[in-house]
Amino acid sequence: MLPEGVNLSALLAKRIEQAGPISVAHYMEAANRAYYAKGDPLGAGGDFITSPEISQVFGELIGLWLTDIWIRAGRPENCTYVELGPGRGTLAADALRSMEQHGFRPQVLFIETSPALRAIQAGKVPQAQFADVFDQLPTSGPLLVVGNEFFDALPVHQYIATHAGWRERVVVRDRGGKFMATPGLQSMDAMVPEEFRNAPSHSIYEACPKAIEVMQALAKQIEAQGGAVLVIDYGYTMPGIGDTLQAVRAHEYANPFENPGQNDLTAHVDFAALVGSIAATEITISGPVEQGEWLKLLGIDYRINALAAGNPDRSEEILAARDRLVESSAMGSLFKVLGFSHPHWPKPEGFDRIPVMSAASD
Ligand code: SAH
Repeated sequence: MLPEGVNLSALLAKRIEQAGPISVAHYMEAANRAYYAKGDPLGAGGDFITSPEISQVFGELIGLWLTDIWIRAGRPENCTYVELGPGRGTLAADALRSMEQHGFRPQVLFIETSPALRAIQAGKVPQAQFADVFDQLPTSGPLLVVGNEFFDALPVHQYIATHAGWRERVVVRDRGGKFMATPGLQSMDAMVPEEFRNAPSHSIYEACPKAIEVMQALAKQIEAQGGAVLVIDYGYTMPGIGDTLQAVRAHEYANPFENPGQNDLTAHVDFAALVGSIAATEITISGPVEQGEWLKLLGIDYRINALAAGNPDRSEEILAARDRLVESSAMGSLFKVLGFSHPHWPKPEGFDRIPVMSAASD
């Protein structure tokens, strides 16, 4: 976290002045670290809203998914529920409640770098332990891992096609002192897949090595210890080109290169790259499928109808929340669910549809 009173813009400006341009990934990492460190960005009064904040049913169904696979795996002992970037802790609280109703009480570990969010999460889930890097995960016992809107916050490198070949997009300051992105000086052709090498000038290719690192670290432990992982995020499932870096503040889009640390910076998740990163392992990969389809296959409508019947004064709100999560016009199609699990664990629920194919430009 930045020391009190230190301004991230000033720090980055000094860094660029002294050591030269920084990559978009470096900029995004620094901006998001400062952004999340300062407090709670979620909810109607914050900058953006996520599925668990829309309806309790989202977390409950994830809890049921985890319980189902755990029961069919023979109720192994010494399991740990691991959540990546748990935000306000709402998903974990809803999931753990539904797990407990079915006799599943795992240990709880949150991977969270923001001290402010850790404090909120500890209030919601008092038994949670915390870690901020992946080598702090338990090394024995199955892991049941959930990450909702975690991968989209990880820093992406951007490569841009120029007349002189591909270059990394780097951040500099213009004459007026504002940050701006511009092509770097070195050739980066080798970083771009063959199929996009001849893309027109100004095309952008994104890569998120941090996401690959996280996937591979999780896969390695799942292979050794057992367990399953759910990655839920918005993104695309066919490799593609396109600039997906975006900044959001108070539910409005902003310029990502203005006011670093004041906006939420995200990039669409490249699900093909996530899958590719663990394709050489023995791990069972499920999906990606669209969030709406996955939730329907898990029985969201039964749970929503029961909740609405039990709370007639809130039924309109409950049904509207369901539509936001499920319908293609809202989050149902843009968001994808990717599962992966130990090769000898049972087949995970909700992935019976053919994996979706969508391109970065959709
Ligand atoms: N999963 C929550 C919150 C999503 S916001 C929800 O669905 O509501 C992204 C979360 O990831 C925040 O908790 C943020 O602090 C955390 N985060 C972002 N980058 C991180 C990193 N590199 N390591 C650990 N946590 C990170």
